Amino acid sequence: MKAKKSISLNNYGIDIWGDGNFFIEDGVVKINNGEKPSLIDIVKKVRSDGGNKGPLLIRFPHLTLKQIDTLYTTFNNSIKSYNYDGTFNAVFPLKVNQFPNFVLPMVEGSKKYNYGLEAGSKAELILAMSYNNIDAPITVNGFKDKEMIILGFIAVKMGYNITITLEGINELDKIIEVYHEFNGEFCPNIGLRVRLHSGGSGVWAKSGGIDSKFGLSSTEILEAYEDLSKNNMLPYLSMIHFHIGSAMTSIMPLKKALKESGHIYAELVTMGASNLKNINIGGGLGIEYSQFHKEKHYSLEEFSNDVVFTLKEITKQKGVKEPNIFTESGRFIAAPSTVLVTPVLELFSSEYELENLKLKDSNEDPTRIDPPLIKELYDLYKSINVKTAREYMHDALEHLESLLTLFSLGYIDLQDRSNGEILTHLIIKKTISLLSVEDYTELVKIEAKIQEKYLLNFSIFQSLPDFWGIDQEFPVMPLTHLDIPATRSATLWDITCDSDGEMPFNPKKPLYLHDVDLKKEEYFLGFFLVGAYQDVLGMKHNLFASPSEVNVVFENGKAVLKDFLPSQNIHDILEDLDYHMFNLQQKLFSKLRDDDLLFTLKKFLKDNGYLKIGMSSQK
Ligand SMILES: *Cc1c(COP(=O)(O)O)cnc(C)c1O
Repeated sequence: MKAKKSISLNNYGIDIWGDGNFFIEDGVVKINNGEKPSLIDIVKKVRSDGGNKGPLLIRFPHLTLKQIDTLYTTFNNSIKSYNYDGTFNAVFPLKVNQFPNFVLPMVEGSKKYNYGLEAGSKAELILAMSYNNIDAPITVNGFKDKEMIILGFIAVKMGYNITITLEGINELDKIIEVYHEFNGEFCPNIGLRVRLHSGGSGVWAKSGGIDSKFGLSSTEILEAYEDLSKNNMLPYLSMIHFHIGSAMTSIMPLKKALKESGHIYAELVTMGASNLKNINIGGGLGIEYSQFHKEKHYSLEEFSNDVVFTLKEITKQKGVKEPNIFTESGRFIAAPSTVLVTPVLELFSSEYELENLKLKDSNEDPTRIDPPLIKELYDLYKSINVKTAREYMHDALEHLESLLTLFSLGYIDLQDRSNGEILTHLIIKKTISLLSVEDYTELVKIEAKIQEKYLLNFSIFQSLPDFWGIDQEFPVMPLTHLDIPATRSATLWDITCDSDGEMPFNPKKPLYLHDVDLKKEEYFLGFFLVGAYQDVLGMKHNLFASPSEVNVVFENGKAVLKDFLPSQNIHDILEDLDYHMFNLQQKLFSKLRDDDLLFTLKKFLKDNGYLKIGMSSQK
């Protein structure tokens, strides 16, 4: 017999996107840390109280700290090997993930690096001023009004090392105004965001470039220099900043941006900006999301070497001091930290079982006879073997098509139609199991016709908004069954009532899952690398709230569950929409006279909206 050649044996690309954080052993996904627990064990522990049946976000603070450590170590190695004078510094851009379960362990664990925070709005700045490590830098980007600038002054008073970056020249007028209102006694550091001639790369390239929403033109930079100088504020000018966009797939645009901004830095220093010491290269470091082949074409080493080398060259050429390097990479730091686990509620074809087949018995009732096509389908089903599988399956699909037409014309009844659908699905299943043993490649050729639909207990809009919005891929794989070949080409459905809540089967990037009987066993899918941007961009479409979440912390090698946060309940979701809840409940409860039902209704209001389907709930 030929060796089984199964696409599923590529291990869902875990070697491409996994970065050594997860591995497969004994048929399950395990976490490569401490006692190496399996994800399924963690999921079972969280669900053991019977309440949490919905999706679950599992966060791993050790993976966030690993990314921070890698970032600092790699840059510091480049600095050493090029004998570079400046230091390396980094801040976390809060817009990437502001959730406390993510932010608080990160701030706590990164003290030794002096890892700081970046804020892009007043609310984020308040967050940074509350939790930032006191010696670590804070940077402020985004459009600012006078209030936001006053917040920056207050942060200085609190003892923070804060830099406010000007996105436009008129923001400087406000800073000067506030500076004088505080009698010119103190001021945050000032950074200039430069509007680059060179654009970015990746989906968000419009964050950089000459027609970018952000940054000062060369004329405005000179104007800013003059204004600072006139107001004796030049000593506060400390940073040049650029950000060329998120998820860079290539390093070329960064090199161009570095050259441009490196020269701007050098010229301003030469003109007399004596405290200008920092270049902030923004974010944009990519993450490998692909399950099939590498799509990110550079390593962090190349990236850091390029930054250090380019800055060294420019400053040598212009005879100025080598600047400290700042980065604001967010996706790179946050994405690996979080796994979204979704229970599979249903397989679409599960209703098409043999036990539901009700062929007509002409012995009992001579007027009830199966149509010839049904008889033929039944013969195909009985006689199918490895040699005939492919041909019979095509025949079956054709027969079903004809039966559906006959039904629409009124020539066969609902029972016939049901029998036809059941028999066709049984033939498909038999074909898959026959071919997957003999010749998997043959199976792959016909996969588009024989997809299984998996209904998942989650909302794509809430939990993977970038899939919905910009077709961002996230690695997905089952948590169990990984020692069994996956034979079903899969389309994923979420539980929203929206036809966009679907991840269709893509023959170019096929997803194969297992044929499971959910009455007998549970089946969970994990979506990986979801720690960046998804949580806060997620929307409450159909009023599904953010999933329950938990931190997995390793203490002496043991995985401990911490900071469990249940998904928001229905009462609170409605309150968030500004319904007056007292009023709503009065209207709701006053219509019901039955105390038991009233009790049930009140209980439901205190629960989240995800579906409670699953094996233990049937007990
Ligand atoms: C969004 C943003 C970042 C983070 O970008 P990533 O691609 O997540 O690294 C950094 N700096 C600024 C100014 C940003 O707007």
